[in-house]
Order: sequence, then structure tokens, then C-alpha cells
Amino acid sequence: MLKDRQFDTIIIGAGAAGMIAGISAAQAKPKQNIAIIEKNWILGKKVLVTGNGRCNLTNVNLSPDKYYGENTKCLHNIFNRFSADDTIKFFNKLDVKLKTENDGRVFPITDMSSTIVDALSKELSQQKVKIYVNERLVKLIPDQDGWQVKTDKNIYETKSVIIATGGKSYPESGSTGDGYDIARQFGHRIIEPRPALVSLELKSDLFKELPGVKANVTITLTAQRKVVKRSTGEILFTHFGISGPIVLDLSRLINNNSEVSVNFMPELRKHEELNDLFRQYPRKTFVNTLDTILPKKLCQVLLNELKIDTEKQASHLTKNENQLIFDKLTNWQLPIRGSRSFEESMVTAGGVSMDEINHRTMESLKAKGLYFAGEILDIDGVSGGYNLQFAWSTGFIAGSSV
Ligand SMILES: Cc1cc2nc3c(=O)[nH]c(=O)nc-3n(C[C@H](O)[C@H](O)[C@H](O)COP(=O)(O)OP(=O)(O)OC[C@H]3O[C@@H](n4cnc5c(N)ncnc54)[C@H](O)[C@@H]3O)c2cc1C
Repeated sequence: MLKDRQFDTIIIGAGAAGMIAGISAAQAKPKQNIAIIEKNWILGKKVLVTGNGRCNLTNVNLSPDKYYGENTKCLHNIFNRFSADDTIKFFNKLDVKLKTENDGRVFPITDMSSTIVDALSKELSQQKVKIYVNERLVKLIPDQDGWQVKTDKNIYETKSVIIATGGKSYPESGSTGDGYDIARQFGHRIIEPRPALVSLELKSDLFKELPGVKANVTITLTAQRKVVKRSTGEILFTHFGISGPIVLDLSRLINNNSEVSVNFMPELRKHEELNDLFRQYPRKTFVNTLDTILPKKLCQVLLNELKIDTEKQASHLTKNENQLIFDKLTNWQLPIRGSRSFEESMVTAGGVSMDEINHRTMESLKAKGLYFAGEILDIDGVSGGYNLQFAWSTGFIAGSSV
């Protein structure tokens, strides 16, 4: 084997987890010979699209309860080792200035995700980490001193290997689930990957007229009559269903038994309050009154459903009609077909079980010298910078442990 194909550590995937793993490995043991193999032509392709191109890289309100997965207890150890504060310090050391916005979301002050990718790339180069782009891992073979890494171009040898190939979401960014087969090969259990942080598709055509319409609502997810999650915030109608931050966050919990209802007027408590509202404008039709508080198009859909004469003045509504309007506005059942696909989802739920990983090092408990980091693992977070934080934390730990 040629000397330049032999490494102490090879990292597969130059996403958030892979890049920080390369840096932390080099910083922990400067004499190490480290390489990153990435199948795209560029590093950090997904990081570039995060936060609408602004990269919401962490959140100061980091805590394990922002995450899902079969074993989220391990997050205490992981975040104790590398926290949101450590992420901020890490990037500050790379001369990246950060700012904290609403709900504790942290962004680069430039509002450009390229600032983050550039800083990581520069540090990798300063730390002399060898980068192979446009090269795809196809096989990992254990050998006497470690591992043989077979790509579509070359064969390498390494003592340790970190799999940071991401999940299956946004496959055009390179994350096509390649790492799951590698993990399976060494006896790891894979919790069925599913799209998360994704829009929901509705069964009904009722809302097809509403793409682009937004409203502040309370959304309630129930399963077998039990409330699973309730959140208040912005909902966005699309040509196939619903989206917006609160919808993305509950998409993770959708299954065949799920029912979703929307309260378009969370501040209304009783139907008498709706009466009071109508009384303020006695001469207006009730449709025009509703228009003052709800998007016009949405009112139209609502009224088509209720079959009440749209020309009726608010003061002429019967008690029964008033109650009907109130019930519809505050408890509109949306028939959910399911969530959209991996192509549109921001993260992947499921992945390599955390039960078979040493949480202090990210090393596999099944194969020595094999490490996992980032979204390939069975942990996914709500929106707000939590998914990148998990990638930074696990990437950093894996890199500094090899
Ligand atoms: C549109 C969008 C917006 C998002 N916004 C945010 C946000 O603002 N904040 C936040 O916290 N999270 C956000 N996320 C989620 C976040 O980007 C991911 O959770 C995070 O990037 C995962 O990092 P990773 O390194 O584990 O995986 P990835 O970033 O997916 O990186 C994996 C890398 O491995 C490479 N690879 C895969 N297979 C192979 C192979 N066989 N050989 C070689 N290389 C391979 C891929 O090309 C890729 O570069 C967003 C996601 C999307 C899609």
C-alpha cells in the first residue's frame, strides 16, 4: 500500500459532523494523519442550505428534551462533553462572529452559511487534513491493523474510521443513507429511517386554493383521542397540505392513527366572544367581519364548508350558526394523508441505535475502531439549531476520541 493512502483516521462524509470530527481529531493529536472522503465536489453542501442559507448552527436553550430517538438519555453525556456554549467558543476560535436571535437560535453575524463552511474548510486545511472529494465510500473491510476503506476510486488503509454520512434527507445534498448498510454489516441495529421536520400532506382538496396563505393558529395532534402534542405558531398552506415551523416540529410524531385539528382563533375562548366580535360591526356581513381577523381565502374555504349564506349580516346569525362558526374556527379537523418524502424533509428520524454506541467516544460497541457521528444516529431534534448541534457534538467527540 502506498504511504499516501495510509492514515490514522479516515472520516467518511464532509458534512457538519465529518468536518468538525476532522478538526477535533487533528487538534487532539496533531501528529495524526487524517483524511476526509466526500462524495460531493464540495464540502458541507447541506450546511450551505441550512437556516434558509443563514445556518442556524445551534441554540442557547439546548437540552435533551428537544430531541427524539429510542435512547435520548445518552444526550446528557454528549452535551456535557460538547455543549451549545462549546459550539459558540469553537466557532469564535475560528474567527466566526455569531449572534443570538429569537428563541435562542444562533447564526453567523454575516447571515451566510458559507461563513461556517469556509471557516471549517480553512481550519481543516491549516490542520493538514487531507481531503478527497468526488469520491464515494463503497465498502469497509476490517483488517489486521484496522480498516481497508474502498471507494469508487481507490483503496485506503486506516486505524480508525468515522462514519459521518448523514441520514436520507435532502438526498441531492449527498445524504442518501449509505452509512446504514455499513453499520448493518457490523451488526448494528438500524431504527427504520423516516422523514422528520417535513410538511404534511392532506387528504382533502379543500385547501388546494390556499397555497401561500399563512395564519397564527394552535395545532393539536391526537392519536386515539389522546393529545400527543399541541403548539401555537404559524401554519402555512401549500398546494398539497400544510407546513410552517409548528407543523414541521410535529411531523415526527405522525402515524396512521394521527389526527390533526387546528384552532384558527386561539385567543377565542367561548362562542359568545365571537358574538361580541360580530356585534362590533353590526352592519357588515359576518364574512367581512371574519375577513378582518383571518386571511380572506381561508374564510372562503371555511364558509363553503359551513354552507351559511355569505351575505348574512353578522347581527342576523342565529345562535346555532354562531356556534357552528365558532366550532369550525376553533376545531377544524384536517385529514392527514401522511408526511412528505425524504426529498423534502430536513432531517431523518431513526438510524443507528444509540444503545450500541459508547456515548463518551462515539465508538461502536460492535467493532473496534469504528465510530459514528451526526444524523446517521438515531437522534433527531426539533427545529431551531438542534440538529446541527447534535452533529457538532457527536462529530467533535468522535474526532477527539480516535
Ligand atoms: C433545507 C435544510 C435546512 C436545515 N436547516 C437547519 C438549521 O438551520 N439548523 C439545524 O440545526 N439543522 C438544520 N438542518 C439539518 C442539518 O442540516 C443536519 O441535521 C446536519 O447537516 C447533519 O449533519 P451530518 O454531518 O450528520 O450529515 P450531512 O450534513 O448530511 O453530511 C453527510 C455527508 O456525507 C457525504 N456522504 C454520504 N455518503 C457518502 C459516501 N458513501 N461516501 C462519501 N461521502 C458520503 C454526503 O455527501 C454529505 O456531505 C437542515 C436540513 C435541511 C435539509
